[in-house]
Amino acid sequence: MNIVVCVKQVPDTTARKELGPDFRLNRAALESVVNPFDEYAIEEALRLKEANGGEVVVLVMGPPSAEDIIRKTLAMGADRAVHVTDPALAGTDWSGTCAVLSTALRRIPHDLVLTGTESTDARSGLVPGGLSEALGIPLVTYAVKLELDAESIKVHRQVPGGYQEVQTPLPAVVSVVKGANEPRYPSLKGIMSAKRKEIQKLTLADLDIDPASVGLHGARTVVTASQARAEKSSGEVARPETPEEAAVIIADFLQARKYI
Ligand SMILES: Cc1cc2nc3c(=O)[nH]c(=O)nc-3n(C[C@H](O)[C@H](O)[C@H](O)COP(=O)(O)OP(=O)(O)OC[C@H]3O[C@@H](n4cnc5c(N)ncnc54)[C@H](O)[C@@H]3O)c2cc1C
Repeated sequence: MNIVVCVKQVPDTTARKELGPDFRLNRAALESVVNPFDEYAIEEALRLKEANGGEVVVLVMGPPSAEDIIRKTLAMGADRAVHVTDPALAGTDWSGTCAVLSTALRRIPHDLVLTGTESTDARSGLVPGGLSEALGIPLVTYAVKLELDAESIKVHRQVPGGYQEVQTPLPAVVSVVKGANEPRYPSLKGIMSAKRKEIQKLTLADLDIDPASVGLHGARTVVTASQARAEKSSGEVARPETPEEAAVIIADFLQARKYI
């Protein structure tokens, strides 16, 4: 079973994210991590491989610095990685990302493509659908549990109030939901062996992709303005002496805001 996991490099979720003068995230200044949602997809891939055999390949589109997070996924147990990196990719929008990842996927044997449900920086959640569309293969989202058999996959899909059981032929794209499993920590043995595992580097030229079709030049969306969310005010504190006084304060508060 050939499983490919799409993994995004994102800024550390606790880091204060600032946009640069071109309204793009100033990534260089930030510690980066494996997109937390993708750790569940990696763990699911490793469990499926342990149960059914095969290979787990990690696919990342990102700057050269993404090699650090790739090594972490190899230390978790992925067999090898493909890193699409090219200066012309900076600022690539959602559709460009899908075009690049799907082109790379056509060169990697894949019976199953796993993704997270969303990234923690842009959070569009659109890439899994875009990959399924570009590759012309089925999509199942919000997977909690996956059972493989020779030609198809049975997915327990999270829905409000419970889950559905969805079956689809392979190959397919499946997004794995946060909390579907307990992602393993890389062992020391895993960290050591990750140093020797292959990371195949691909440029846009290697993929025959026109640099003008991706990056800021190829983006179909342009951020024209950005405003930080207003700091939450701590609100008013009232210390009424009596319940009657409290009622008056609350009524005045609601009236002033035309709630009553
Ligand atoms: C703050 C911000 C706002 C943005 N706004 C927009 C916008 O409005 N419109 C737009 O088109 N683009 C936007 N982008 C660009 C967009 O983030 C990238 O194109 C991105 O690569 C794909 O979108 P996503 O992060 O929303 O992915 P999602 O669809 O949220 O990610 C879902 C899954 O897809 C996989 N995946 C996503 N990106 C990669 C990758 N680079 N390599 C490997 N796997 C990946 C992962 O498995 C991930 O869990 C924005 C970026 C930022 C940082």
